[in-house]
Amino acid sequence: MTLSITLLGTGSPLPDPHRAGPATLVSSEADHYLVDAGRGVLMRLAAAGVTAEQLSAVLLTHLHSDHFTDLGDVITTRWVMTFEPTPLTVVGPVGTKSVVEHLLGALGPDIAYRMAHHGDLDHPPPVEVVEVEDGAVVVPGAVRVRCAPTDHKPVEPSAGFRFDHGGVAVVTAGDTVPCAGLDRLCQGADALVHTVIRKDVIERLPVQRMRDTLDYHSSPEQAAQTAQRAGVRTLVLTHYVPAFPPGRGEDWRALAAAHFDGAIEVGDDLHRVDVRAGDAS
Ligand SMILES: [Zn+2]
Ligand SMILES: [Zn+2]
Repeated sequence: MTLSITLLGTGSPLPDPHRAGPATLVSSEADHYLVDAGRGVLMRLAAAGVTAEQLSAVLLTHLHSDHFTDLGDVITTRWVMTFEPTPLTVVGPVGTKSVVEHLLGALGPDIAYRMAHHGDLDHPPPVEVVEVEDGAVVVPGAVRVRCAPTDHKPVEPSAGFRFDHGGVAVVTAGDTVPCAGLDRLCQGADALVHTVIRKDVIERLPVQRMRDTLDYHSSPEQAAQTAQRAGVRTLVLTHYVPAFPPGRGEDWRALAAAHFDGAIEVGDDLHRVDVRAGDAS
């Protein structure tokens, strides 16, 4: 069995022509789970050959805007491109229900226009929100999903997700500092996808608003230490702040490699990592 990780968006709130906003796709043979839905997610999803209709669920790690800017696009596109009600399951921490309700409210005029114009579109976008804190997550599809609280304070609550399928386990950490919840989720997992920022670079910037971000993100070194503690075999870094030019990032890998014995993946948008049971690829 294989779980594939596709880095749909490796960017951050800072607009970058080469990097879409935070979004990661975790796919089995039959299911696709979208973790976060940042800027440009449907363009990258299209490039990966997956449509909004094919998503088994969308899972939000937290409610920072850059992690869900394009959730409205996912909701609308799935709705207009399906010909029978096709509910979209959106999983997220407490607060997600309210965010989705407001998103649907903002889409109200569009929903009314399209329902009035298309005779066969007789229902608004069906969205089912599942708010989670800790433990098993009930989602459509054959992959077992669970979550644990992470530490992105003062952004609260936040969650990491674990996907188990056929003896393969992939964890998506989201934005977090090292914490017990993430350690627990990673125990025995094969791969960890972790958002990271270069604290050694950011701390030297003469912009307090950038330095403010130091205390609630992990550095590549900290992500590597989390992976090492849990015995994960592959660490996938994403959400690069500051972003490096496409094709580069060896310095990020080196920083992580000093703290982690396994494989380290550093990539651009659409970088894909296939995780198989019992190997280190
Ligand atoms: Zn965040
Ligand atoms: Zn972020």
